[in-house]
Amino acid sequence: MVNYKDLGLVNTREMFAKAIDGGYAIPAFNFNNMEQLQAIIKACAETKSPVILQVSSGARKYANQTLLRYMAEGAVEYAKELGWEHPQICLHLDHGDTFELCKSCVDFGFSSVMIDGSSLPYEENIALTKKVVEYAHQFDVTVEAELGVLAGVEDDVVAEESHYTKPEEVIDFATRTGCDSLAISIGTSHGAYKFKPEQCTRDPKTGKLVPPPLAFDVLEEVEKKLPGFPIVLHGSSSVPQEYVDIINSHGGNLPDAVGIPEDQLRKAAKSAVCKINIDSDSRLAFTAAVRKVFAEKPGEFDPRKYCGPARDEMTKLYKHKIIEVLGSDGKAE
Ligand SMILES: [Zn+2]
Repeated sequence: MVNYKDLGLVNTREMFAKAIDGGYAIPAFNFNNMEQLQAIIKACAETKSPVILQVSSGARKYANQTLLRYMAEGAVEYAKELGWEHPQICLHLDHGDTFELCKSCVDFGFSSVMIDGSSLPYEENIALTKKVVEYAHQFDVTVEAELGVLAGVEDDVVAEESHYTKPEEVIDFATRTGCDSLAISIGTSHGAYKFKPEQCTRDPKTGKLVPPPLAFDVLEEVEKKLPGFPIVLHGSSSVPQEYVDIINSHGGNLPDAVGIPEDQLRKAAKSAVCKINIDSDSRLAFTAAVRKVFAEKPGEFDPRKYCGPARDEMTKLYKHKIIEVLGSDGKAE
């Protein structure tokens, strides 16, 4: 049994309380490798932003859960070395699907876990979430739950169509499970293809897809039912067109990739939404940088020469998100 407090990590409770009061959101960035983690920590240290490091099931399969946990422990020390005096870093399990997995993360030093029972019938989602909450809270580990189903693909999480969260269910769900935060469905979705072209309109000038707006009416209803309760948005990458264009003009093929416009996320960050998950954008930044090196320097074969520029590009992206979209800069001195 390892307690996250001994690793210098924090849970989400205080982070979220401050974010709701301050009208900003905490970045939740997924990581799978060293360069990504370095970029996240550097961006957060330079902007003094609290951060949630997320480990998905795909990341656990790719990089190994044990190794990722020790990397997060190392990240706390790295942050201090970068001159961040009081790093506020949470290590979070993204989309936990069983009690056993959540328990193993709690026992191993994670400071927060998500139990995603959103594909289960309502009562079963409540029972599973409650069981995880009861276990995790003994060790002051916070628990995120999910109500409503997101469309799209995130590792193993696949849902064909999105079912908006029903605002009338949230009080009952939050009260009966005791969860600390709730991921809701208001039109965000996983992956780099968040909307089908037929769901979008086209900008007559650029020919680019313009996605439909998020369901802010659902978000407002949820806020009214649960004032001050932390709300989470998954699948909130913006799919920056400059990265898509670099990828497509350097041998890639991402036709009609489309995300959530940043002005909509900015608006959400000012509300009860206090955690915004961003993964695809960092994948795009990495891929764009690597493709550019490969196209421009075909003789390059040292991974540091293309992973290095990828890391720099991701750092730039994370800082942009923190400062221009979430507003979490300067919130963790
Ligand atoms: Zn997700």
